[in-house]
Amino acid sequence: SIVVTGATGHLGRHVVEQLLEKVPAEQITAVVRNAEKAADFADRGVGIALADYNDPASYDGLFSAGDKVLLISGNEFDKGRVQQHKVVIEAAKTAGVALLAYTSAPGTLTAALADDHRGTEEILLGSGVPYALLRNGWYHENYTENLAPVLEHNAVVAAAGEGKVSSAARADYAAAAVAVLTGDGHENKTYELGGDTPWSFAEYAAELSRRTGREITYNAVSPEVLTGILTGAGLPEPLAGILAGVDVSIEKGELVISSGDLSRLIGRPTTPFSEAIAAALKG
Ligand code: NDP
Repeated sequence: SIVVTGATGHLGRHVVEQLLEKVPAEQITAVVRNAEKAADFADRGVGIALADYNDPASYDGLFSAGDKVLLISGNEFDKGRVQQHKVVIEAAKTAGVALLAYTSAPGTLTAALADDHRGTEEILLGSGVPYALLRNGWYHENYTENLAPVLEHNAVVAAAGEGKVSSAARADYAAAAVAVLTGDGHENKTYELGGDTPWSFAEYAAELSRRTGREITYNAVSPEVLTGILTGAGLPEPLAGILAGVDVSIEKGELVISSGDLSRLIGRPTTPFSEAIAAALKG
């Protein structure tokens, strides 16, 4: 089977939808915490398995020899994600899966956000399980799903200076995962995935201006100021600090991905950022 953890998350949903276009539903298993959230998948014949990264016993016997597994990194920053991911890796090892693909972070990223990914990669490589590292760059959606404050203040606020980002759509990263899960020869490969065309925050503001007919400017701030703005908007302090740290990495060029791996894996150009912006503005 092809087994996808985090299947009811944003990325996981894209992966399952795209798998359904390529393989029979009965070959797919969605691993979820909440069966109700996966009812639509079950209705279409996708196998559903219940498991939680925080409950090792829930992974007992979940995988079978020869499975191809996609481990989608968790989002519980305060619960020890490396330990959570280790639970899945050990279960995959015990079962003798054919491939364990993991959604990691770019190899160039030094921000604190990358620590859990480096820790997970180390355990995965040490496990001896055939792996594929899908080192996903930044999502378009990190911006396009957070347009409200930008449009309210006519300002893109970031601590990224003149730095650029090779973002791509979640659907593009999902397509890469599907290519790896359904194709051959991806064992023990590392893919540096990102959009074809990096953009700067000034360019982002200009694109928003062009599409809205308003004057939207880029307001470059320090990481400290950005952390204050984000906590003021209700984000927990540690998360705000992590996000500001990503901007610092962007300024250093750490989220520019020039490998071409993403468009090569998916066999088409990545979704242009301008297209994602246009779709988001249409609502
Ligand atoms: P989501 O937050 O939408 O999905 C996270 C998924 O992880 C959900 O399916 C969630 O399950 C699952 N999950 C979290 N904790 C557990 C747990 N304890 N046990 C089992 N499942 C768990 O994120 P996306 O789908 O958008 O992105 C996937 C991952 O990529 C994120 O979790 C994060 O690690 C990373 N990421 C990458 C970004 C980038 O720009 N490259 C941006 C943001 C995140 P449930 O559906 O039950 O909630």
